[in-house]
Amino acid sequence: TQDVHIIGGGLAGSEAAWQLGRRGFRVRLSEMRGTGERSPAHQGDGLAELVCSNSFRSDDHEKNAVGLLHEEMRRCDSLIMAAAGKAQVPAGTALAVDRDVFSAEVEARLSALPNVEIVRERIDTLPESGTTIVATGPLTADSLAGSIGRATGSDSLAFFDAIAPIVYRESIDMDVCWMASRWDKGETKDYINCPMDKDQYLAFHQALLEGEKTAFKEWEADTPYFDGCMPIEVMAERGVETLRFGPMKPVGLDNPHWATEEHPKGRWAYAVVQLRQDNKLGTLWNMVGFQTKLKHAEQVRLFRTIPGLENAEFARLGGLHRNTFINSPVLLDRQLRLKTAPHVRFAGQITGCEGYVESAAVGLMAGLMTATQLAGRDWQAPPRTTALGALLSHITGDAEAESYQPMNVNFGLFPPLHDVKKKQRKEAYTERAKHEIAPWLDSLPAG
Ligand code: FAD
Repeated sequence: TQDVHIIGGGLAGSEAAWQLGRRGFRVRLSEMRGTGERSPAHQGDGLAELVCSNSFRSDDHEKNAVGLLHEEMRRCDSLIMAAAGKAQVPAGTALAVDRDVFSAEVEARLSALPNVEIVRERIDTLPESGTTIVATGPLTADSLAGSIGRATGSDSLAFFDAIAPIVYRESIDMDVCWMASRWDKGETKDYINCPMDKDQYLAFHQALLEGEKTAFKEWEADTPYFDGCMPIEVMAERGVETLRFGPMKPVGLDNPHWATEEHPKGRWAYAVVQLRQDNKLGTLWNMVGFQTKLKHAEQVRLFRTIPGLENAEFARLGGLHRNTFINSPVLLDRQLRLKTAPHVRFAGQITGCEGYVESAAVGLMAGLMTATQLAGRDWQAPPRTTALGALLSHITGDAEAESYQPMNVNFGLFPPLHDVKKKQRKEAYTERAKHEIAPWLDSLPAG
C-alpha cells in the first residue's frame, strides 16, 4: 500500500511524486498513457511530455517572474528544473529543452526512487479515501473529469476556454480613461473605461475583421463554447454595431474628461472598452468581453490602438483552447485540498494555473504540503512575496472567483512595491523574493 496516490504523470504529478518520494514516502503514480490511451495532444507515453512548445520561457531570475519561479523551484530541488537543466538546448535567455531527453530524464530519476511505483492505468473516479493528488491536467480523461465535476458541483469542466487579455494597471493612461460603473451615481466606480469616438470605433472594428487569427485544431472541434465566451472577432463579424450593443456598449458612462459646461458630468463616448479588476491587489485588469483567438502579436498591436491603452503592458494575452480546470479559489483550501473532500489535493493546470513551469510549481507545492502533513507537521505557506507564494495565493483565494481563468505567474500577482521607481521594480520584486524565501526553505521537511 502507498502513502499517497498521485493521478497523472505529467509536469505536476511527476514533480509531486519526486518531492514525496525523495522524502521517503511511498507513492503510487498512475498515468494513463502506456495503456493505449492518450489525450488528443500527447504524442508519446513518457512522463512529463511537453505537448506543444519546448520552452520553459525566460530563465532571467532578476527581471522576470517565470525566471524567478525557475530559481525558487531549483532551490526546492525540483525534478522538473533538474531535468530541464540536463536537456537544455540553446535559446538565448530562455530555458528550452530537448523534449525527449527531458521526459526520459524525469522518468529515469523517478524510476530510480525505490518507493515510487509508476503504474500505467487510467483512473476513472476520485478515490473515496486515502491521501490523493489529482494532477491530470488540461486534458483530463472524460470519466475522471465527470467524477470531479460531480464532486465539485460543476456540470462540465472541459470547454473552449476563451480567455481575455489582462493588462497591468500601472500601464493604463488614466488621463484618457476613467473609473466608473454604468449608470453609477458616484458610489461604485468599479470599471476602468476607455473611450472611443466614431472614427476610432470603425477603424477598430475593421482591424478586428482583418486581424490574423490562430487556426483551430481539429481535435478541439467537438468541445462546446463556454457560455458567454464568444471571441471578440467572431462578434465583430456579426455586424458593425454588434460590439457597440455588446461588450463595447457606451450608454450610461459619462466621461468626465469630456465634460463641458452643458454636460458638466461628461459625455458618453461612441464606444467604450471596459476593464475589470482581476486580482485583490488591484494590479491586474481584465479586458471585459475581449476573449480572442487573434495571434498574440496582433493583439498587442491592435489593443494598443485603444485610447488609454497605447502603452499597455499585458500580463496575459487572450487565447482559445480546450481546457479543464476547477474554480480553485472557491473549491480549494489554502493547501490545495478540496474543501468537501480534504483527502484530495489538486495540482497542475487543473487548478487554473497556466503553463509548464507553473503547473510543475503547483505540483511541487502539493508534494511539499502532502509531505508536511504526512510528517505530522504544520504547513507554512511560501511567503506571498515569492513567485511560489504569489501563484499559490492567487489560485487558492486571491483571484476573483467569478471570472477565474488560467493564469501565468507575473509580477502583478506580487504585493506591489509602489515606492520603488518603475525601472527598478522588477529587480526589487526578485530581490525581495530571494531574500524572503530563505527561511521558508528551512521550514520544509528534510529530503
Ligand atoms: P499534463 O502535463 O497534461 O499531465 C497530465 C497527465 O495526466 C497526462 O500525462 C495524462 O496522460 C494523465 N491523465 C489524464 N487523465 C488521466 C486519468 N484519468 N488517469 C490517469 N492519468 C491521466 N504550456 C506552456 O508552458 N507552453 C506551451 O506551449 C503549452 N502548450 C499547450 C498546448 C495545449 C494543446 C494544451 C492543452 C496546453 C498547453 N500548455 C502549454 C499548458 C500546460 O502548461 C500544459 O498542458 C502542462 O502540460 C500542464 O501540466 P499538468 O501536469 O497539469 O498536465
